[in-house]
Amino acid sequence: MNYIVFDLEWNQPQDGKHSAERELAFEIIEIGAVKLNDDLKLVSKYQQLIRPQVYKEINWRIRKMLALKPGELSGGKSFLHAAKDFFKWCGEDPVWCTWGTQDLTELQRNMAYYGMEPLSAGPIRYMNVQKMYGVLCGNDTQSKALETAVDELQLRKDVPFHRAYSDAYYTAKVLAKIPEEIRNEHAAYDVFHLPENRKQEIHIESPEGEGLITWGYADREKLLKDPHVMTIQCGKCGGVTVKTAVRWFTPNNRIFYAAGICKEHGCIAAKLRVRKNEQGLFYGERKYNYVDEAALEDLKQQRREASKKQKSK
Ligand SMILES: [Zn+2]
Repeated sequence: MNYIVFDLEWNQPQDGKHSAERELAFEIIEIGAVKLNDDLKLVSKYQQLIRPQVYKEINWRIRKMLALKPGELSGGKSFLHAAKDFFKWCGEDPVWCTWGTQDLTELQRNMAYYGMEPLSAGPIRYMNVQKMYGVLCGNDTQSKALETAVDELQLRKDVPFHRAYSDAYYTAKVLAKIPEEIRNEHAAYDVFHLPENRKQEIHIESPEGEGLITWGYADREKLLKDPHVMTIQCGKCGGVTVKTAVRWFTPNNRIFYAAGICKEHGCIAAKLRVRKNEQGLFYGERKYNYVDEAALEDLKQQRREASKKQKSK
């Protein structure tokens, strides 16, 4: 297997416009990467500057952070040329690894802007090393900075931070400290391209339960009324629909909760997060987790509070 750990640097204009109003919010100006073998040992390095074509003025903060010399970027390749070169270096079917969730998305957004063939027709399974490091630390909700992880793991800081190559290099060093179990059980999915139909939806199995990433719905209400998404089933019984214990409710209209009870396997807590993708389609990220009675009672209490709040409005 080929692991490609990569990091991007990008520029964004400072004209006060919101990034959502732009066709290209972040223009990639540097790609840095390392290739790892099956044992997560470094076998090759990649570093490429990219000549800006959309936003030619580099934001001063970015210039300062990257310590760019005047004229340094104009010697870079065009994005198209650089991306093709990069993918050739990556080889066939790499496992993408990044620190956080943004790099893989921005890479695809820049590719789409230049009309390149998509990296994949649907979601991409990848390794979010930041998230895996969070799991290793026993806290997967808080996102740590790469340098914090490097310090905590007491890794040698032998190259300066904040250039694409060095950040990829340190991300690879952190990845090498993640046990195989965590790497296998906590894969991430990039959904720049959503599943195109129900058959291609993503099902994720884990010891705690299971996850689903749905395909895209033009209408949010359709998603929230689709029995396929909203029916609680027990995976351990082969997907049998279970008795509802807590009906769906939401405290914020973004995350929805419910619970069911399987006679064999106990309480199942359901959580559905509704998101909107680049193309304006709505999709759900749903999780079923096997929980204890106390967690079920807690959920019932939350539902009562949410409906009280609704009534008082
Ligand atoms: Zn069951």
